[in-house]
Amino acid sequence: MSVIDEIKSKVDIVDLVSEAGVKLRHAGRNYTGFCPFHDNKHTPSFVVWPESGTWRCFGQCNEGGDVFKFVMKRENLDFKEALDKLAARAGVQVPTFSRQSPEQKEAYDNLRILLEDAIVFYRSHLMANREVLNYLHQKRGLSDLAIETFGLGYAPNAWDAALTHFAKRGYPEHDLLEAGLISHRDSGGFYDRFRNRIMIPIRDENGRMTGFGARIVDPNDVPKFLNSPETPIFSKGHLLYGLDRARKPIRSADQAVIVEGYLDVIALHQAGYENVVSPMGTALTEHQLRLLKRFTRRIVLALDPDTAGQKAVLRGLDAARQAMDREGELGFDARGLLREEARLQADLRVASIPDGLDPDEIVARDKAEWARLIEKAKPIVTYVMETLAAGQNIIDPKVKNQIAAQVMPLIEDLPNALERDTYRQQLARMLRVDESALTGTQQAQASRVRRPRGSQNEQSARKQPPEKPKNALTLSSNNKVEAYIIAVLVKKPELLYRLDRVLQEYGLLKLADQDFEYTDHQMMFGLIRESVEQDKTEHHEFVVESMPASLQSVLQELDSENEKFERMEEKLLEELLRGVIKLRRVAAGENLNQLRYLQEEAQQVGDLRAASYQDLVLKHTKLLHNLDQAFRKMSLKRLQ
Ligand SMILES: [Zn+2]
Repeated sequence: MSVIDEIKSKVDIVDLVSEAGVKLRHAGRNYTGFCPFHDNKHTPSFVVWPESGTWRCFGQCNEGGDVFKFVMKRENLDFKEALDKLAARAGVQVPTFSRQSPEQKEAYDNLRILLEDAIVFYRSHLMANREVLNYLHQKRGLSDLAIETFGLGYAPNAWDAALTHFAKRGYPEHDLLEAGLISHRDSGGFYDRFRNRIMIPIRDENGRMTGFGARIVDPNDVPKFLNSPETPIFSKGHLLYGLDRARKPIRSADQAVIVEGYLDVIALHQAGYENVVSPMGTALTEHQLRLLKRFTRRIVLALDPDTAGQKAVLRGLDAARQAMDREGELGFDARGLLREEARLQADLRVASIPDGLDPDEIVARDKAEWARLIEKAKPIVTYVMETLAAGQNIIDPKVKNQIAAQVMPLIEDLPNALERDTYRQQLARMLRVDESALTGTQQAQASRVRRPRGSQNEQSARKQPPEKPKNALTLSSNNKVEAYIIAVLVKKPELLYRLDRVLQEYGLLKLADQDFEYTDHQMMFGLIRESVEQDKTEHHEFVVESMPASLQSVLQELDSENEKFERMEEKLLEELLRGVIKLRRVAAGENLNQLRYLQEEAQQVGDLRAASYQDLVLKHTKLLHNLDQAFRKMSLKRLQ
């Protein structure tokens, strides 16, 4: 879900409008009130649909929209400002996308050129160092081809080797510092950041150079792993090692595997498992998962059982957060991962690596064993259950109680009721207890044990009767149809011409802003329309380039659904048409219902507006009729 959709689903339009001073009353499934945007105190003409999170004024304004439009109009804000305001209200963090200025882009390009140069420098030192080469060949089992393909190198054991080399080549110290190759000396001056280390170039998902990971050669050196410092182009939480090479294999395997070390990634690629990536020695971030989700929803974490074992599971959320900044450890925070899994609608599984072996040792021993391990990956909750129970005497009531107390909060946190039931049953079976006893344990524990922040409240809240229905219904219907139409058109703006032509053949109007109820979709449609009306830039590129930063999250979401658009244009066009007709039918139907209600009410109090409502009723009836006809023609055509 994009942040924008998340906000739509979290902000209650009824609350929002009421807080703006509009008195709303129930009218069927909806609410009506006096329009806050025009002056009319006879009869209410302002309608709010709580399910879709939308509103419309059937009076003078004759316009409507979503929560964003309401705030924009009410407070005279632009979309970005309304987005920030409602994000704060919904408690949703809006990621910042900064568009690069041309000067910035040039500066970053220069940094990348310097880093590419650094690869050559470190590489020449590796080729001259028999000992380190031997280590890579013999201890890590890497071939010359893999060393070359991944651009491995060696930083010599000196304080100023890189400093002198690059100064001679004319690079200013400032650039070396910004690229993260050198550090400030306390006493003034600079020194090489990387000394006596194996150098591993780290590229972003598009293959652009960003920085280095460096591993010790001398076992007594600390830290074992050292990355480039955070620079304008190297951000640990935003990169996944190996993704530039793994993205295609991930897409074709429809699965991504995450391991803990850079050299493990290389060894696995060398063994033919190319869908493997690694975080930068820190816990996985939401951003990294989102990045992967552009290529697949199925993600397997291949974990060392020591990291993911009992201790890690027992760690509270805060501890897990602290661990995120520690180098060389893939933190395992079951609760956090489950939350991300639900939020991103991903399928996260855990595979455990046996015998304290590294992945590269496993493929060295038996290539096929890796495939079997990944095959056996388990859902997070199952994994936690089994890890906790391993080696324990689960006949002991105390042990049963302990395990239940740790697993039940995870289960109760799951958003999906069916999943909660399934795991509860699974846990009951494993502990050989009755399911009802489990929930008993849970409550008893909840009252005794102080849980991490928030969790206890969430649970007691769930026990209470649900409050107002949330917007779930719409986010799965109208919003989705709109989003689908936009997604297709962003990818293939040219289709808009053909779509308009068919619509007109059916006696319907061209696709327009007003067909979209949600502000983000309206704005994107505006760009799509603009793109086909210009011919300087390729249409899709035009849309992407002119997309405002506030809509970038939607664009990213669309990107992750790439595979849909490989289909034939004819099929897409038909689906578009179906979508547009569906949108218009739903809207016309909703409007008609409301208008009849408003008309009746106006007649009762003798409001002159009753007549104009009658006109609108006729107009919408006619539209519905035309839409039905178009739909029939379309189905007939398909049969021919
Ligand atoms: Zn109005």
